Amino acid sequence: MVSPPISCLYACLLFNPDIATTPQLLEIQKCLQEFIGPAPTVQLESFSNWEGSAIYDHVFVTKPRTAEEIQRTVSAAATCGIQVRAVGNAHTADQVWGGRGHVHINMSELTLEGGKRVIMQPEIAGKKVASVKVAAGVTLAELNNEIAKHGHVFHLGPLIGEVTIGGAIATSAHSGFYHEPSIGGYMTRVKLVDGRGDIREFNQNSDADVLKALRCHLGLLGILFEIELEVIQQVVVNFQHVFTPLRNLFSPTVLRDLILENDFVNMFYVPYNSLTEEEAKEVTHTGTVPRSWDSGNDLVLIRIINQISAKRNFEDERPPSVPKITYNKVAFEVQLSYPVSVVKNLTDVLFLNILGIPAVDSMEYVTVDPNFTNGAAAMQIKI
Ligand SMILES: Cc1cc2nc3c(=O)[nH]c(=O)nc-3n(C[C@H](O)[C@H](O)[C@H](O)COP(=O)(O)OP(=O)(O)OC[C@H]3O[C@@H](n4cnc5c(N)ncnc54)[C@H](O)[C@@H]3O)c2cc1C
Repeated sequence: MVSPPISCLYACLLFNPDIATTPQLLEIQKCLQEFIGPAPTVQLESFSNWEGSAIYDHVFVTKPRTAEEIQRTVSAAATCGIQVRAVGNAHTADQVWGGRGHVHINMSELTLEGGKRVIMQPEIAGKKVASVKVAAGVTLAELNNEIAKHGHVFHLGPLIGEVTIGGAIATSAHSGFYHEPSIGGYMTRVKLVDGRGDIREFNQNSDADVLKALRCHLGLLGILFEIELEVIQQVVVNFQHVFTPLRNLFSPTVLRDLILENDFVNMFYVPYNSLTEEEAKEVTHTGTVPRSWDSGNDLVLIRIINQISAKRNFEDERPPSVPKITYNKVAFEVQLSYPVSVVKNLTDVLFLNILGIPAVDSMEYVTVDPNFTNGAAAMQIKI
């Protein structure tokens, strides 16, 4: 790292990310760049996660291409006394990145040796399973496209291909197999940059406890840049999409049997898809749940995967077309287009079209309670 100019050390000392003005943020951007040297470039940008539930007007962003560039970014942030966190594709709903005025390391341009992002590992004698080495910013879809060329597939994880391997492991992302671990359970070796800017390497055989901690680290145990994962041979599966009224799931045995008797099960419920026109008007007008709504009539999509030898029959009650009245209409429309049953490579059924996932809507009910405010004020005084 370049020797920090005194003026920058002073600016960093006085920097308060929460209240910094734009000129102060621009000054810190310049200082971070001085600390880092020519690459990577530090940008000052706004940030929003996919859902729009975490929004910051200004964060410092670098896009390192190598581990060394990550080290430079971490050391610069440490010198300036501000937080530094990796950002995958920002598909997490909670605030799990540094906030306003902190450093985001965007992992999208990171590569491994030779500029590659995914490298199949050579078969080692006696090793039972194949493995692959990935740059942490590789998305699940990218990983699966690459390894499909070699006849392999990664274990089912989050339902969308857009999330990165580094990000999905950090939040312990998982799938609908009740007998399989989160995807971090298939991580066998990892290289990361720690809080001091040093490179550390851990592997399953000699550092089992560290690997365990790294399977749900929420970005707090360093910046992972190279991850080795076990993969499996490509497999042909039977994939079914079944629509059933919510009321059928109230039965005490239906869910239990579905889970026990199938390899993979998950469900999507777009609430209100059975509203009558009158009920829909009431929701639009008052923003409240209509008293006459029978949620048992709403349709739920059940996605089921089994080996081809275990094809099962389910009653599919999907309507012939999208009902005129429905909330999250686009999502419901996409869901209705899914085939009742297909036989395909696992690679081809791994991910759901993101448009078929209902948006997270919230309707706000405000209950005015003067005692609450008084209580909160009392608590503030005690603190
Ligand atoms: C539509 C949708 C569907 C989803 N479906 C599922 C699902 O089926 N199952 C499930 O479990 N989850 C699901 N998720 C959640 C998603 O899998 C997780 O939020 C995942 O962490 C997002 O990955 P990301 O690459 O966007 O990481 P980000 O959201 O950007 O980051 C998540 C955390 O990981 C840290 N991080 C990222 N990369 C690194 C790195 N290289 N080194 C260190 N820390 C890092 C970040 O600092 C942050 O704390 C879904 C999300 C959406 C929006």
